[in-house]
Amino acid sequence: MDNTVRIALIPGDGVGYEVMAEARPCLEWAQNRGRAVETIELPYGADHFLATGETLPETAFLHIRDRCDAILFGAVGDPRVPDGRHAEEILLRLRQDLQLTVNFRPCRTPCPTPYPGMENRTPSVDIEVFRENTEGPYCLQGSTEPGRAVDLAIHTESAVHRLLSAAFRRAEATGHPLVLAHKANVLKHGHGLWMRVFEALRREHPQVAARGMHADALLCALVQDPTAFRILAADNYLGDLISDLCAAYIGGMGVAPSLSWAPHRPFRCTALAEPVHGSAPDIAGQGLANPTGMLLGTALLFRHLAWEPEAEALERAVARALSEGARTRDLGGTLSTKAMGQAIRDQLP
Ligand code: ATP
Repeated sequence: MDNTVRIALIPGDGVGYEVMAEARPCLEWAQNRGRAVETIELPYGADHFLATGETLPETAFLHIRDRCDAILFGAVGDPRVPDGRHAEEILLRLRQDLQLTVNFRPCRTPCPTPYPGMENRTPSVDIEVFRENTEGPYCLQGSTEPGRAVDLAIHTESAVHRLLSAAFRRAEATGHPLVLAHKANVLKHGHGLWMRVFEALRREHPQVAARGMHADALLCALVQDPTAFRILAADNYLGDLISDLCAAYIGGMGVAPSLSWAPHRPFRCTALAEPVHGSAPDIAGQGLANPTGMLLGTALLFRHLAWEPEAEALERAVARALSEGARTRDLGGTLSTKAMGQAIRDQLP
C-alpha cells in the first residue's frame, strides 16, 4: 500500500512566503531520513486573486480535501484586498469545510534564556490552548444595516463536543488541569451550550481537574500568574484572544505555532499547520520575519503525522538555536529570516 504522505504547501501572502521558505527544507530533511512525503505547492493568496479573480478554486479545494493528508500554511492578508475576501475564502474556508474544529496552540517557553525585555517575566510558561476553529462569531454571517450591525455567533453541539473532548483527552493524558473560558453569565444561549457539554464531559472524566472561569477573570489571572494554567479551552473568539496573550509570554507572534485538526477524520485531509501570526504587511519582504512559529508549526505537523522523532528533533533544534543566542529583530537580535531558519536547521541531527 502506498503510504506516501501528501502535503499541500500554501505560502499565502506577505511574510507567509518568507517563513514557508524556511519550513520547506525541514520537509526535505524528513524525507532524507526516510519519510515518504510528497508536496504540492499552491499559489493561492492576494497576488493570485488580484491577477485572476480566483481565491481558492473548487478543483483545488477538492484536491486538497481528497488527495492530500495535510496542509502547511504560511499566512494570508494583504492591504491591497482591504475587505480580506481572499483570506476568508482561502483560510476560513479550509478550516470550516475541512471541519478542522480543534485549533491547538501550545505556548511553551522555547528556551531557558529570557529574551531582552522579558527578563522579569516568568521563564517557564507552558500553556496549551484548545480553540474552537470553525464557529462562534467567526462564522461570517451577519449584516450591516442603517444604524445597526449584526454578527451572528453560531455554536453547534457537535463542534463544541469535538473541541472539548480533545481538551479533556489531553488533560487526562498529561494529568494537567483544564480551564474553560466562557461568558455564560451573559452569552446565555451560546455559552450556555458550552457549559452543558463541559459538564457532561466532566462527569465522563472524573479524574480531570476541570473548571470553568469567566473569560474576563481568567485574563486577569493569566496576566498575574501564567504558570497557574496548563490547558485552556475556549470558543473561536475568546480562544483567539487568549492564545495571542499566551504567545506574548513566550516571545510574541513570531514564535507561536498552531495546528488545526479534525479528530473525527471526515476527509483524507485532517490537519492544517501554520504559525499563529498573520501576513505582517508592516515587515513583509524585508527579511525581518521570525520563522520560529512556522518551524514549530512544522513540528506540530510532524507529530500529527506520527513522526514523533522528527517533531522532537525540530523542537529541540529551535530550543538549542535560541539558547545559543539566535535572534531575529522581534526578539532583540539581528538575524534575518533566512539566517534564523538556517541557525535552527543547523541544530537538526
Ligand atoms: P491576523 O489577523 O491575520 O492574525 P494580525 O493583523 O493580527 O493578523 P499579524 O500579521 O500577525 O497581525 O502581525 C501583528 C504584529 O506582529 C505586527 O506588528 C507584525 O509585524 C508582528 N509579526 C507578525 N508575525 C511576525 C513574525 N513572524 N516575526 C516578527 N514579527 C511578526
